[in-house]
Amino acid sequence: MSPKPNSIASRDIAYCLHPYTNARAHEKKGPLVITHGKGIEVFDDQGKSYIEGMAGLWSTSLGFSEERLVEAAAKQMRALPFYHGFTHKTAIPAVELSEKLIAMAPVPMSKVIFANSGSEANDTIVKLVWYYNNALGRPEKKKIISRVKGYHGVTVATASMTGLPVNQTDFDLPINNILHTSCPHYWRFGKEGESEEAFASRMACELEEMILSEGPETIAAFIGEPVMGAGGVIIPPATYWEKIQTVLRKHDILLIADEVICGFGRTGNSFGSQTFGIEPDIMSMAKALSSSYLPISAVMLNDKFYQVIADNSDKIGVLGHGFTYSGHPVCAAVALETLKIYEERNLFAQVAETGAHLQNRLAAFKDHPLVGEVRGIGLIAGVELVQNKRTKESFSPAGKVGTYLNERAVEEGLIIRNMGDTIAFCPPLIITDDQIDQMIGRFAKALEKTL
Ligand code: PLP
Repeated sequence: MSPKPNSIASRDIAYCLHPYTNARAHEKKGPLVITHGKGIEVFDDQGKSYIEGMAGLWSTSLGFSEERLVEAAAKQMRALPFYHGFTHKTAIPAVELSEKLIAMAPVPMSKVIFANSGSEANDTIVKLVWYYNNALGRPEKKKIISRVKGYHGVTVATASMTGLPVNQTDFDLPINNILHTSCPHYWRFGKEGESEEAFASRMACELEEMILSEGPETIAAFIGEPVMGAGGVIIPPATYWEKIQTVLRKHDILLIADEVICGFGRTGNSFGSQTFGIEPDIMSMAKALSSSYLPISAVMLNDKFYQVIADNSDKIGVLGHGFTYSGHPVCAAVALETLKIYEERNLFAQVAETGAHLQNRLAAFKDHPLVGEVRGIGLIAGVELVQNKRTKESFSPAGKVGTYLNERAVEEGLIIRNMGDTIAFCPPLIITDDQIDQMIGRFAKALEKTL
């Protein structure tokens, strides 16, 4: 049905170009217009409610109606709506937030620099890594290794690190100096009879072979999400991170943890790095940092890295990087309040419990004829649909069945996300066991309609 003339939907079709949307299909289909939210639910312009099973974009951790965040923003906006951090200036929220993040870090960290999105945080890291190696007099040590199916953003550099074809096709990407190593998805890529640990060893060996064939003196850093999100919720196999880190240390390669999804409780700890024993040199975070109520991201660096950057800024005269909105006081105030709420409500420990409930409920779908694998940890999970359960053969064309199921879920009042034929769940951290049961009930109905 085409939208009524002059409705929001028809004006959307007339004026908006949507991210991650087939523009031609959108001209016919039009948007789902979301008008407001309450708790874990959002409502459309017809008054229909949806459980937001993806917390927006893996991000609205405190749900859609946390008044304290509204108040924190209003209070800061009245006091000082904008200030910046350029040329020795600062505003109080940015200082307090930096201090808090350093205190929460999984390993000793030294400094924080802010940006506005996950992409900008990771882009900042790429630049700082290059700056660092130039400062150390090793300009050839510039390559960054990421992984097939990794997701690190959509700027020129971060889309190059992202290991998904759709982010590079016809954008003239990737840029030089970006390499991709294998995706550590054991269920999909493990060999017949290979244990999870043996698979992890093979991944680490492949990485080392890549490093040796390129020359370790040319490799600056490795970037990875503790759990891959947009690539299909891929949980690292046992011993994977420990083995990868051994290789990186051996060849003096920096480790960047992209905590944009995993940060702030998603896996049951403050950071995914703690869950998987990752000891990064540099970390990026965004999304749940402010429960996505306002855009803010952060890069945290260790002291070894910071000291080199600091010396180089002294030599050049200034650190020539920063955004107008880096450390925006209103965004930082909202982020600080978000972190305070996490702490007061002991929310990360609660995720360990509700997460176990989510994973148990989803595990029941393992026997469903369309389901190849159910995987997850904490409050993040993926259900991969397959054409053939025994051979793991995927559907062709990829994503058609996942998209169909996604649309059936919307009919049932559930918003989830299909990455190809993997259905992702990443609900707000405030979700209760009862609400998880409701979410699963709606998913089950949508899955039945898909069969
Ligand atoms: N890194 C990861 C792991 C992400 O999942 C995302 C976005 O989903 C990004 C980076 C990019 O963040 P943004 O969309 O805020 O630029």
